[in-house]
Amino acid sequence: MEATNISVSARVDVAFQRCILPSCGATYGIEDVRVECGRCGHLLDVAYDWDRLAPPASLAEFDAATIPGQPEAQSGVWRFHRLLPFAQRDKLVTIGEGRTLLQRADRVGQYVGLSGGELHLQYEGLNPSGSFKDNGMVAAFTHARTVGAKRAACASTGNTSASLAAFCSVTRLLSAVIFIGSGKISYGKLSQALDYGALTIQIAGDFDDAMQRVREVSQQLGIYLVNSVNPFRLEGQKTIMYRVLDALRWQSPDWIVVPGGNLGNSSAFGKAFAELKELGLIDRMPRLAVINAAGANTLYELYEKRGARWDGGKPDSALVDDYYRELDESHAKASTIASAIEINRPVNLYKCLRALEDMDGVVREVTDQQIMDAKAQVGAGGLGCEPASAASVAGAKLLRSEGIIGPEERVVCILTGHQLKDPDATVAYHTTDQEKFNQVLGRRGVKRASYANRAVAVSNNLEEIIRAIQLYS
Ligand SMILES: *Cc1c(COP(=O)(O)O)cnc(C)c1O
Ligand SMILES: [Zn+2]
Repeated sequence: MEATNISVSARVDVAFQRCILPSCGATYGIEDVRVECGRCGHLLDVAYDWDRLAPPASLAEFDAATIPGQPEAQSGVWRFHRLLPFAQRDKLVTIGEGRTLLQRADRVGQYVGLSGGELHLQYEGLNPSGSFKDNGMVAAFTHARTVGAKRAACASTGNTSASLAAFCSVTRLLSAVIFIGSGKISYGKLSQALDYGALTIQIAGDFDDAMQRVREVSQQLGIYLVNSVNPFRLEGQKTIMYRVLDALRWQSPDWIVVPGGNLGNSSAFGKAFAELKELGLIDRMPRLAVINAAGANTLYELYEKRGARWDGGKPDSALVDDYYRELDESHAKASTIASAIEINRPVNLYKCLRALEDMDGVVREVTDQQIMDAKAQVGAGGLGCEPASAASVAGAKLLRSEGIIGPEERVVCILTGHQLKDPDATVAYHTTDQEKFNQVLGRRGVKRASYANRAVAVSNNLEEIIRAIQLYS
């Protein structure tokens, strides 16, 4: 099938783009800038003719693969260049992305209900712009540079725009145009886009509106689109899984748990593992758990309630379309404290369904209460995260309580964004100021801050300060 398609379109490149629908199978060159199949409108993959490339014979080869001073050594993404070989080596861009940490987290593991040593947290907040988006942005950015783009655009709940703005300001290779919904973006993220000097367009609408507009605008003005509909983005995000494997000495964990927004990460993880399996580099796939916020639960609704499936490449798109029509008719808007996943129309839905099939996946929804409690546990147990990230830990806890995840299984939760991205939510959780709590969290249905660490208020008096310390420490 693959070979005939390649010959039909006279493709001889070792890397190319291919429609995700096997029944369509249209292919396009790497230099072709597009975010959907010209024949059927579905998403595109970056695909490789591995037989004509030189993939590593074993993952341990990456242990020694450093080239001092080169992007392969400076970047936790390009370190794995041989597994995303669409990029020309002399065009690689880096701002030091992907140098992140997998931390064994026993204290959080206990909260989740796992035995010691089983829970690991992948801290993608340690990226230069503070979220996992840098992994994908570096790949899309490198592609944009390869095709000679001058401007790049995205719609964003905040982190994609922070990442794009950072890449533009550090490298000066492209200029950024950013679309955000009004009133939804957290200040940590907005401050980045503004500070890095990106042109920021605030639309009177939500993320789903901004996403639709940026697609139109980038097409009309020929601006390179870096949202995760861009298949090159997802190539970079595959490396999150390579780094997890690296930290676990190339042994697959039992579970990967990730928050689901536009479903780029979950899709990229599925592709990473499917390729590693195809190349014979792993013998066991982890299972995938994608966690929605209850206020933005399209994937949960479609996958767990209505039975939407990839079905080996024959998904029932009427089922999906019906659901979206219902959303429109009821004027439903996504609403959750986890603003990074406050999305009702995930652009990578079909790729994610494929990943769920490949990785025997499950989908769950968690409330803002569960998210904020899990977030407090993550913070107390280590480097902290933003609300959306904590959905992974809340989801792992839920799956553990259902018995879907066993107590002795090895679980990796992806912490997608940095603790400082959304200080408002954190301070509101820990505050003693009920008004502040209600304003930020109460209106989301968060009733209590079960793990709040309250500041102790004392008067400016030495004795009283000393007494407070002795009383509370
Ligand atoms: C973008 C983002 C997500 C959602 O990831 P998708 O790949 O769109 O599902 C989750 N958490 C954070 C912090 C993000 O920035
Ligand atoms: Zn197609």
